[in-house]
Amino acid sequence: MPWISHEQCVGCGICVDKCPAGAISIRDGIAELEINSCIRCGICHDVCPSSAIRHDSELIPQEIQANLKKAEWSMAECERLLGDPHERNKCRERLIKHFTSKKRVVEETLKELHRLGQVI
Ligand code: SF4
Ligand code: SF4
Repeated sequence: MPWISHEQCVGCGICVDKCPAGAISIRDGIAELEINSCIRCGICHDVCPSSAIRHDSELIPQEIQANLKKAEWSMAECERLLGDPHERNKCRERLIKHFTSKKRVVEETLKELHRLGQVI
């Protein structure tokens, strides 16, 4: 999914004109993307002269850190609210199951997407 780097956007409006879905507008001199309207065609990535339209894969390190921060908080809260240090590890096991199930969904989705590519 695309996202717009506010630091890099110069508000030229080229992406607004080229987006076939009308998903981008300029607000306060900066491009803004309505992700629910975006059809993921990738055109905006190609036309931006400032490389301001970035790919979500670049956010993976931040997402990992955010997940770890949330996990740390959950584990600490489980220990504190349940009054037992063992709850910390039990919470960690539940979190691992949660992420394993998410991973499985992604893996199966990727498999199906590859299958769709073979069908077309
Ligand atoms: S990926 Fe395509 S639809 Fe989405 S914002 Fe960019 S140009 Fe518009
Ligand atoms: S094309 Fe790039 S620099 Fe121009 S408005 Fe869009 S995101 Fe900003």
